[in-house]
Order: sequence, then C-alpha cells, then structure tokens
Amino acid sequence: MAHGNRIGVVLAMSWALADFGPSSAAAQVVNRYRVHWRPPSTLEVTATVRADDGWLRMSTTRPLDLPAIEKAGWPALVRLGRVRDATGRALAATPSGDSGWQLAPRPDGAVSLHYELDLGAAQAAGWPAPRELAWGDDALQTVVARALFVSGTAPSASRVTVSVPPGWQVVAPWTRAATGAFRVPTTLDLTENLLAFARTAPTRVRAGGLEVAVVAAGHWRPVVADVRALLAPGIARSAAMWARAQGAYLVVLLPTLERGGEAYRASFAMTVDSAPTLATRARWGHTLLHEIGHYWNGSRVAGADYASSQWFQEGFTDYVASLAMLEGGQQDDAGWRDELQRYIARYERLATPLGQPGTRKGPPLYSGGALLALTWDVRIRSVTQGRARLADALHQLWRDTDAGRRPWNWPDLRAALASTAALDFDGDYARYVMGRAPLPIDDVLRHLGLGAERDSTGHVTRVVPLEGVHPAVRLVPPTR
Ligand SMILES: [Zn+2]
Repeated sequence: MAHGNRIGVVLAMSWALADFGPSSAAAQVVNRYRVHWRPPSTLEVTATVRADDGWLRMSTTRPLDLPAIEKAGWPALVRLGRVRDATGRALAATPSGDSGWQLAPRPDGAVSLHYELDLGAAQAAGWPAPRELAWGDDALQTVVARALFVSGTAPSASRVTVSVPPGWQVVAPWTRAATGAFRVPTTLDLTENLLAFARTAPTRVRAGGLEVAVVAAGHWRPVVADVRALLAPGIARSAAMWARAQGAYLVVLLPTLERGGEAYRASFAMTVDSAPTLATRARWGHTLLHEIGHYWNGSRVAGADYASSQWFQEGFTDYVASLAMLEGGQQDDAGWRDELQRYIARYERLATPLGQPGTRKGPPLYSGGALLALTWDVRIRSVTQGRARLADALHQLWRDTDAGRRPWNWPDLRAALASTAALDFDGDYARYVMGRAPLPIDDVLRHLGLGAERDSTGHVTRVVPLEGVHPAVRLVPPTR
C-alpha cells in the first residue's frame, strides 16, 4: 500500500476500524463541507460538522518530507479561523499535537468552521511526497484529503461541494448527488482518499463495479490509452477474485521520477522511476493492479494487527495482481516465469518471519507473501483437481468479515482457507508465517511444470519450463 516514508499508521488504522463500528445512529449525521480552490496552492473550506466530543480531528498518517508536517502533523498546514457552535457561541480551539484541536466550551449542536489549507510550502519545495501530500502543474492539481478535511465525530456521512476556477474540473472518488454535491458515506471515505483538479476530462474506465477516473500528468499522458486497456480487464479480474466493488474510484498518475504507489480507500497515486513505455508495461501494469487491489485487501479487508498482517495485505495483493495480469493476457508465460524468479530472489533476502516484520516492510516481505499465496493456490487447486482455488478463500474471507467491516485474525483466514480444501493451514502458518521455514518453492514450481535454475551459491537465477513434465496445475486455462 505504502512505499513512502510516513508515520502514524497504527493510530490511523485503529481509528479507521472504529469508523466501521455499528454506530448506525451516528452514521446518520451529515457533515457539510464547501471547498474552494484558489490556485495555485490555497484551499478554502467552510464546514458544518458534528464534534460532540469537543474535538476537531485530522488524520495523523502523514509523510515526513516537509519539516512542518513531520513535527506538528496536518494542522501545521491549516489556518483555522472562527469556530462557532449551533447557538452561535464562539468556541476556543486549542491545537493538540498532530491530531487536531480541542474545543472549549464543549459545543452545543453542530460546529461551523472556516479554514484554509496552504500548500505553498509544499509547492515551494517542489512537491515532495507527491503521492502522500500534493502535486501540481499547469493542467493538474492533486491533494490528499487527509490534509484537506478537518473532521468531527468519526463515523459520519458528509456532503461535499467543491468549486474550482473556470476551465478546471473536480475529479473525486465519490459519487455525486443530483445537486452536484459529493455524497461521502463515512469520515474514512472522506479523509482516506485523493482529490484532483484537472484542465481536461479524466479517462474513464468502468470495471468490476467501479467507475474509475484516471488523471495523468507528464510522461503518463502518451500511455493513458494503454493504462485504460490494462485497467479494464485487470480490475474486472481482481473483482472476480475478491468481490464486486462499488462506487467511484480515482487513479492519479504523476510524473515524479521515483518508484512508488500509495493506495487510499477509493483512490491511489503512483509514480515510476522512468517514463512508462509499452516495453515496461508488465512492470507498471502490475503496480497499477497492486495499488487498486488494496481496494479489497487493505482498505476494506484488513488484519486486526497491522504489522503482523502485512504478508497478507501486501503479498496477496501482489499475487492477485500477477494472476490478473496473467489471466488477462497482459503478462505472457516468459514474463510470468521472470516474475516468479524475481519473487523468489527477493524472498531469499527476507530476514525475519513473514508475520514478524518489525517496523519495516519491503520487497522481501511482499514477495514472500506472494509466494505463500501461490503455494496455497497451487495446493488447493491440486488437491481439489481444480474445483477450488485461492480466490474461493478470498470470497469466503470477504463474506466472513462482512466486506471488511470486521478485521481478520488468523482463525478467520484459516477458516476461509479451510473452506476450499482439507490442507494443514495451521501447520503452514506456524512454519512459513510465524516461523522461518523456507516455502516449498521447488515443489510448487513442479506442480506448474516449472523448475528453478540456481547459481553456485544456491540463488535462483531463472525459472524455466521442465522438459517433458506435464503441469499438474494450470493457473490459467491453456485455451486462451
Ligand atoms: Zn501495497
């Protein structure tokens, strides 16, 4: 999900999960935001929010690239003006670290406030953290909603209207009401997203239940038709592996030369380290599908413990993206074997158990998780003679967690896996996730009719078809 330098993950996730709670009465509360963009770098907001507990909050998840935000959080970019409650009484708003402001006295009814978000420092610094903060040029401006929305009582719906100068349009990951206002079901949908202002209409893709808008800048523009051609089947196949999605989604493709992606609840921002071309399509295509895969795995289905579930959140998202590319014919057999080799080579560098990564997650963890997903997919298909596969367990997990409203623990995932085949998933979990036993790579490859070539030190240098070995398991039907 994140490859950027940031903090506040644990806090943000626990707040995120609280937002899914069964507070249906509170969910009826409707906050109202009127956002006005004054180019180049000021966003003016007038809002009416419920802040019954006496707090105005901002997300504590943030990039560390701007000193002001690193120290004081998003409130450092906000100039908060007058705050009044429903009786018209002026309230004092006292900054409280990186999390927001405490109001005094405690408000009576909804609070009205006015504030400005100033992106000038980020612009002056050349848009550091383009995926996690903001980015802009003459034709596109993006901003993370974490920086833009001061919120009140957590589980509430919002109506958001956004005005931009003539010649610009708003592109948001929310559906519009007939009035033109965006309808945002929860605070999480409000703040854990991106917002864009564009000179030209976004490229639209409809797939898997999502209405996707793609905004692209710089070196992405020449390949935007290829992005569209890749996203349509890729999203449909990802949805088939998890569940049908619903609503608007925003894809932001930025020209900063740096490899990374940051996924939000219904949006992601992505950058690559060299201009995207058809020759490199399998690589950036995989990242596109990885980031959108967090719509299901990460933004909705999420482990109860963040750090110890990243092998699943990142690794299984990598595997689903690989399989979607393979099934869609956007990755060929030779490219898939090379990708397997890269997964194996990165997994060889894993220094901790998959389930105990400490504070770091990186390519070895992602790749180990992806190879465990492959291992289970191959074994499930093998023992059921192709009647079941890993996707059946993902469907089950989606249902069992109520579409991600309830976080999963290992017994939930084990039950979902066990619904597909009678295999020793507890043993695998003890060996490969909590322990450091190496995954049975050679056995898994042999089932696929493949073998690993190793150098003198034992590192896998190539994955090759095994001569004369009929694959016992085919991930993709051979008829395509
Ligand atoms: Zn990810």
